[in-house]
Amino acid sequence: MEESLIYPLPNRAWIDVNVNALRRNALALTERTGLPLIPMIKADAYGVGAAGVVRSLEPLEPMAYGVASVEEGEILRHLGIARPIIVFTPILEADYPRADSADLTPSLGDAASIRAWSAYAKPYQLAIDTGMNRAGLPWRDVASAREAVRLSPPAGAFTHFHSAELENGSAELQVERFFQAIDALGVDIPFLHADNSAAAARGLDGRGRWGAVRPGLFLYGVGAATGIQPEPVVSLRARVVDIRWVEAGDTVSYDAVYTAPQRERIATATIGYGDGYPRSLSDKATALVNGARVRQRGLVTMDMTMFDVTSVPCEIGDVVTLWGEKGGPELTVQGVARSAGMSPYELLTGLAPRLQRRFNEV
Ligand SMILES: *Cc1c(COP(=O)(O)O)cnc(C)c1O
Repeated sequence: MEESLIYPLPNRAWIDVNVNALRRNALALTERTGLPLIPMIKADAYGVGAAGVVRSLEPLEPMAYGVASVEEGEILRHLGIARPIIVFTPILEADYPRADSADLTPSLGDAASIRAWSAYAKPYQLAIDTGMNRAGLPWRDVASAREAVRLSPPAGAFTHFHSAELENGSAELQVERFFQAIDALGVDIPFLHADNSAAAARGLDGRGRWGAVRPGLFLYGVGAATGIQPEPVVSLRARVVDIRWVEAGDTVSYDAVYTAPQRERIATATIGYGDGYPRSLSDKATALVNGARVRQRGLVTMDMTMFDVTSVPCEIGDVVTLWGEKGGPELTVQGVARSAGMSPYELLTGLAPRLQRRFNEV
C-alpha cells in the first residue's frame, strides 16, 4: 500500500533540536531558582514541536506543563502525559466538560467562572492580573471574587509579568500588587508562582514564596539581556538544490529588488516563508554553508531562498544553516529575529508544519 505523505515533509528543510541542551537549560533554571519547573509547551512548544519537547523533558519530572488551550492539553494527554496540565489562557464555559474529561487545570479569574468550574470539583489556578491587563482577576478589585474563592479555594495562584526582561522595576511592582491581592483575598493559597524565563533567569525575588517557575523561551535556547544564559537548542536547516552564475546587472528573485553588482555564484536553498523563514529577512540575512558565512540575495520566496556563495565551497545537496549552533551572534534565534524585525517568540512560533522536527540526543 502506498503511504500518503502529510506534513512535515522529510528531506526538504528541517530543524535540529538539541535534546541535551534543552534538558540542560531546564536544569539550569532549576538550579538557579531552586524551584520545580512548569515548562510552557503552548503553541506546539513555541514551534519546536510539543511531542518531542515533552518526550525530552519527561525524564526531568517537571511538576506540570503549561498550555494555552483545551486542545493543546488534550494533545499532551494523547501523548501519554499524566502530570498536571495547566491551561494559562482563559477558556469558555462551553469547554469545561472537555477540560474536565482531560483532567486539565484551568486558570480562572472571576467569580462566575470559579462558581461554574466548582461543579466539577476539580482544581483550578487563580489568575491575578497585576498590570498586563490581558486576563485574570484585577489586583485592585479582588473583592468581586472573594466569596467565590472562599467557597472554592484554588490549588494555586499566579500572575504574569509584562516586562520581566527589562529590569525596570515593573516586575517588582507586579510582585507587590500580587501579594496585596493575595492578602486582600484572605484565603490561604498554598501554591504561588509568577516567574517566566526572564524573571527566573535573573532570580526575581518572590518573597521566598514562589512554588514553581514557568519558563518557555529559555528552555528553547533564547536568553534575556541579563541573568543566566541558555544554550542554543534549535537550528534551522535546508539543502542547496540549484547553483548558477549571474552576471553583473542581473537581478535575483521576485520584484528584481536585488541587482548583482558583479558576477556572482548564487545557490538556491529549499527554505522560504512557507517554512517560517520570514520574508522580512529579504536581503538582510546571513547563513552558514560549510562553516562559512554567506549573504542572502533578493526576496525570500515561499519555497526557496537564494544565497551568494561566490567565495565559499558549495555543491548541490549541501546543507544551509539559517540559524543555529556555531553561527555566531548574528545566527542565533535572537539575532535572526532582530534582523527580521520580529521577536524571538514570533520567529520560533512561526516555524511551519512543513518543517521536519529532528530531536537529536547528541
Ligand atoms: C508564555 C507564558 C510563560 C512563559 O514565558 P517565557 O517568557 O517564554 O518564559 C509563563 N507564564 C505564562 C502565563 C505564559 O503565558
